[in-house]
Amino acid sequence: MRRWTRGWKTFCLTLMVLTSFCMGVGVSQGLEAREVTAQLRPDFVIVIDQETAHFSDVNGSEVYPLLYEGTTYLPLRAIGNLMGKQVDWDEQSKTVTLSDALRESVGVERVVDGDTLEVLWRGNLEKVRLIGVDTAESAHPDEQKNTEFGRLAAAYTKEALEGKTVELEFDVQQRDQYGRLLCYVYLDGEMFNERLLEEGMAAVSTWPPNVKYVESFTQAQQRAKEAGAGMWEGYVPQDFGITEQQAQSIVYVTATGKKYHKSSTCGAGTYFESTLQQALEQGLTACDKCW
Ligand SMILES: [Zn+2]
Repeated sequence: MRRWTRGWKTFCLTLMVLTSFCMGVGVSQGLEAREVTAQLRPDFVIVIDQETAHFSDVNGSEVYPLLYEGTTYLPLRAIGNLMGKQVDWDEQSKTVTLSDALRESVGVERVVDGDTLEVLWRGNLEKVRLIGVDTAESAHPDEQKNTEFGRLAAAYTKEALEGKTVELEFDVQQRDQYGRLLCYVYLDGEMFNERLLEEGMAAVSTWPPNVKYVESFTQAQQRAKEAGAGMWEGYVPQDFGITEQQAQSIVYVTATGKKYHKSSTCGAGTYFESTLQQALEQGLTACDKCW
């Protein structure tokens, strides 16, 4: 479970808006700077399934309802995500859709490497990058970057997925900067991203805001380390000069995955749990406010 925490702050926000006046059909002209006042309302309560909901944006900052010129605006994407709905915005029809995170069936045409596939999606051949995991390189144009383990992971994914029908699930962003679809891939109802971690074929890689399953991914990786699976064969926990008890103590990592905190209520934002040992191994730094 992700945790939503909040600090109670009321403040006014003054915005400079550029108001566009529409003259005629679809022609906008005359941009004018205007000062308006909006108010963030942390005292407005949103209850979903009998629980008071708190929201944060992709940077982990708290999101509040906004009162602007007498109208209340709600953080629809955050509400949808909290309800477990997929929130889609279609620019052309100006439609927001909240739907169950439906998985779409596709055929895997080719496995590119351990964490990248080519699938036939909505009539197009598309590259799919598995979210939240990284396998070592095996198909990099620079042969120096390819490793034995990368080839092993590629062979593993190829064996499991090539020619199969899988289901795709999206997170917040549908595509990455290279135009690849960002997906959780399911084979026979089991998530393959997590299986790669469980088998030690891939390492966790946190990609805010696409962090829906980051907590269970981190746990799967921990089990793989403890079992010495795949790349973790012969793994010995790094020594950070802390006691075993400290190593296993729970810390809270922000959704941006850069810092770890002593408490889940340190600042506003979304946190997931980790052990201190894992946070240190991932190179995260201690929050200077709570440590
Ligand atoms: Zn902190």
